Amino acid sequence: MDIEQRPTEMVKFYSGNSLPLELHKVRVVQKLHLLPIEKRLEAIERAGFNSFLLSTRETYLDMLTDSGCNAMSDRQTAAMMVADDAYAGSQSYERMEVQVKNMFAKEYILPVHQGRAAENIVGQAFVHEGDQIPMNYHFTTTKAHFEINGGTLHEIYTDEALKVKSTHPFKGNMDINRLKDVIETYGAARIPFIRLEASTNLIGGQPFSMENMRQVRKVADDTNIMIVLDASLIGENAWFIKQRESGYAQKTMGEIIREMSDLSDLVYFSARKLSSSRGGIICTNRFDLYDQMRDLVPLYEGFLTYGGMSVREIEAMAVGLEETLDNTMISQSPSFIDYFVRKTDGLGLPVVTPGGALGAHIDAGSFLSHIPQQEYPAGALVAAFYLISGIRGMERGTISSVRLEDGSDLLADIELMRLAFPRRVFTLSQVEYAIDRLKWLFDNRRLVGGLEWEKEPKVLRFFVGRLKARGDWPVKLMAKFREDFGDSL
Ligand SMILES: *Cc1c(COP(=O)(O)O)cnc(C)c1O
Repeated sequence: MDIEQRPTEMVKFYSGNSLPLELHKVRVVQKLHLLPIEKRLEAIERAGFNSFLLSTRETYLDMLTDSGCNAMSDRQTAAMMVADDAYAGSQSYERMEVQVKNMFAKEYILPVHQGRAAENIVGQAFVHEGDQIPMNYHFTTTKAHFEINGGTLHEIYTDEALKVKSTHPFKGNMDINRLKDVIETYGAARIPFIRLEASTNLIGGQPFSMENMRQVRKVADDTNIMIVLDASLIGENAWFIKQRESGYAQKTMGEIIREMSDLSDLVYFSARKLSSSRGGIICTNRFDLYDQMRDLVPLYEGFLTYGGMSVREIEAMAVGLEETLDNTMISQSPSFIDYFVRKTDGLGLPVVTPGGALGAHIDAGSFLSHIPQQEYPAGALVAAFYLISGIRGMERGTISSVRLEDGSDLLADIELMRLAFPRRVFTLSQVEYAIDRLKWLFDNRRLVGGLEWEKEPKVLRFFVGRLKARGDWPVKLMAKFREDFGDSL
């Protein structure tokens, strides 16, 4: 099926255009800061050319991540006011339980404070020394928790997954033959579960199809292995199935999510992405699985009716889950991303296609093809884009990788700048601004140079590491900006 034939939800204009019209109105606003470029140069230097070290006071559009910075609805904030403060047996928890059951049709539910806490519990309960865990792709926290318990990850993505330019509607699919090979090689006894991640985060928010999930289920049934679904981005995955997979256009979001849940033995999610700004859930219909996990919740999280969340967060999550089933609420972020991706692709910019969930990804390796990978093109692109726009993206390339024992960098498979689209946060004119400035940067890309380390931490260096520009390219880039934009912000 050609994805080009199936645009996401757009409203036709008389002029002939179609636009992803905002189907919400803004009732609470937060002031943003668009500093002059001279101040932005000072800010990025102060931040060691690392966007994690910028303050939102210095940022115009915060496109670092969608995690925990989605907009709340009026109904969510209203629900937070009626939250029932209680250590045990809170009515807020009961309301949330009703929504989780409604959405996932799972009987046994465990609350946790965020997604990685669910992974800690799933990891401790089911992953043992020497275990092998097949998955469509890893997420950073998943990998850490499963490895700490002695597991080895096997990423079984298809050949399409890491291609920058693709029209494949389901780049998050698992390669079924390779999955069978891994099971054959290691034996089902060493495989505690197969993990499927909805809207595969690190592949660029790319979904898997229901057909693929059914094939994975068949393999799981044949080999008697269970399926664990990471549902942190399930709303968007279900939305893409509705948009892109034949036979699903008429199905409701609820029916699609329910079908995905029914194909899984255990479901967990981070509510920082799904539905609210905090929290997480593990749920299953199998009492034996629940029983192996339950005692870990009071140990690490809190009592079984709050799991480390405040009752206000629980109320917001309950309403947010309900709103995930609403087309107009869930379509906003993927439709805006789709708009950004189609438009930048049309302008000839190296953006990853097709659009996925959570954000757009720019291929920094081809955007800045004159910068060797050892000089961090993705990091340089993030810094340069902040400098000329005030927009904060995230580096997903070699800076986010590690240094090897021989002292060299483990070069990333692909150098990406991620521009996250937190749900319902930005307007279309802000998206147009991002597209416009990115095009300007592309036309002036030769002025951008590489980065080098000033202070490099040993672990997770991308979070707080400091770099500097090689040469004085930021000053030259700023001069060209002034030449073209005058004294405009
Ligand atoms: C964010 C995320 C997690 C971790 O959740 P946190 O709430 O940040 O701990 C796990 N899996 C996926 C797919 C995610 O996107």
